Amino acid sequence: MSRLITGVFSFLLLTQSAWAQKEVMLESLRQREVATWDLASKIWELAEPGYQEFESSRLLADALETAGFRVERGVAEIPTAFTATFGKGSPVIAILGEYDALPGLSQEAVPERLPRGQASYGHGCGHHLFGAASASAAIAVADQIKAKQLTGTVRFYGCPAEEGGSGKAFMVRAGLFRDCDVALHWHPSTRNTAGDSSCLARVAVKFRFKGQSAHAAGSPEQGRSALDAVELACHASELMREHTPDLTRIHHVITSGGGAPNVVPDFAEVFFYIRHPKAEIVRELYPRLLKCAQAGSLATETKLEELYLGGTMELLPNDSIAQVALKNLQQLNNLKYDAKQTEFANRIRETLVKPQPLESISQVTDTSGEVGKG
Ligand SMILES: [Zn+2]
Repeated sequence: MSRLITGVFSFLLLTQSAWAQKEVMLESLRQREVATWDLASKIWELAEPGYQEFESSRLLADALETAGFRVERGVAEIPTAFTATFGKGSPVIAILGEYDALPGLSQEAVPERLPRGQASYGHGCGHHLFGAASASAAIAVADQIKAKQLTGTVRFYGCPAEEGGSGKAFMVRAGLFRDCDVALHWHPSTRNTAGDSSCLARVAVKFRFKGQSAHAAGSPEQGRSALDAVELACHASELMREHTPDLTRIHHVITSGGGAPNVVPDFAEVFFYIRHPKAEIVRELYPRLLKCAQAGSLATETKLEELYLGGTMELLPNDSIAQVALKNLQQLNNLKYDAKQTEFANRIRETLVKPQPLESISQVTDTSGEVGKG
């Protein structure tokens, strides 16, 4: 009996001290709140393309260096990739941050569409928040290591080019995650969620076709249209789609298709993604998509060039840690909009086809088992 009481008592002590520790960490985050928002706003304004996030990565690396982290810049031979490490020994906890922007999404911080001057790139999916908040979280953990409340190592990974550039794949290949016990990441979203949901595996490829230019009215028989090859390849891919496993996604954009209707295009290019929750399915589908492109080339007597742009596998989620994150998020979520934010959010809602109720900010959803769409 007394052993049971001792057991309960020590559990209570542990729970209380864990709670006190969380409070200290939250206070650490709060103390940096203004600086973190400032950093996020600067990265928002910089809105640099993948692999060209020179200023954004420098701002984050400098902030971590100032907080006492050992910073290694230009890791994996990528100028805008870096690691920032604090503490020593095991466990090694990785916290990921990203900071690349998207083309065509330049935007002022207003609720209606308003591009920023001549800028093309913008932070469409919140990567300005992703890097700044992750860096602040890493500093909060470092504070605890400094205060001898935690032992081990926290390492922030400055990850470039998440949007299609697969920056992390090169960092993995360079062995930068070899000693990590776990990697924590998050992403801005329309919902507050935690769970073990993964993402889609993906390959990217550009098919380039070279044909023979000619006057489209005067001597069409002398032309071999690269655009025709693209159109055939795309049509073949649409037919192929019906005979692919469930949850397959195949999508394309034509990145070059000629300049004028009266000139038979001698060059055309189409950019494809194949996605599926399982990498092995994506691998099986790729040779079939290649055949679609070869069919376009064969029928139009144009030359095909295959520019394979690599692939990424699905995430390997950790359910135990996801459940801990979910519990904490549920306990800590006291988000509310003030009057100004409510007005801003309502003006955005007016532009949406299916707006969520504003009250959804107070909900936290367990996404375990869901198939990620990104
Ligand atoms: Zn993103």
